[in-house]
Amino acid sequence: MKRLIFLGPPGAGKGTQAKLLAAKTGIAHISTGEMLRSAISSGTTLGKQAQTYVDKGELVPDQLLLDLIRARLREPDAKNGWILDGFPRNASQAAFLDKLLMEMNQACDYAINLEVPEQVLMERLVGRGRKDDNPETIRRRLEVYHEHTAPVLDFYLLKGNLKSVNGDRPLEEVNKSLQEIVNGGIRDLK
Ligand code: AMP
Repeated sequence: MKRLIFLGPPGAGKGTQAKLLAAKTGIAHISTGEMLRSAISSGTTLGKQAQTYVDKGELVPDQLLLDLIRARLREPDAKNGWILDGFPRNASQAAFLDKLLMEMNQACDYAINLEVPEQVLMERLVGRGRKDDNPETIRRRLEVYHEHTAPVLDFYLLKGNLKSVNGDRPLEEVNKSLQEIVNGGIRDLK
């Protein structure tokens, strides 16, 4: 049972790696980006409120995310651990999550920073073809990452549970490193 937070810039492979790791370990994959995209495509109130932000590459206001994440972490499948992909995205979300986990008597085992050079990120994002993957929005999402999300790395560094993984390698190799972190943690307990 592991609780992991995937950090790293857009295009680092968080979603792809989280999905693969979830499939291999049975841990729930929780992607706030996917939750928002599904709310937008089904036209819910949340979707309508979030759409302009997602389309522009801006962060959706915290208020819209907090209830969503609180409810999602209480779903039955999250009892066996979870991989948070795309949350927290700024310092106040990190503080919220910390408090929420404390209330739930849980803790995140590792925050994992997937490191990929900026040039590679651009190439990957341009090639991906999602609606928010046009050059202007990509630029903005990278800026937003540096301004708001990168500082979250320090939060977990200070807590002592930040791990960095080189994400600029073939998919299976990156996933192997992630699995080693998951399994290594279990060995630590023995
Ligand atoms: P992602 O799929 O993680 O790249 O997220 C896609 C978009 O969803 C982001 O560019 C934001 O507009 C929005 N989003 C996802 N997660 C969050 C979050 N934790 N806080 C604010 N906005 C978010």
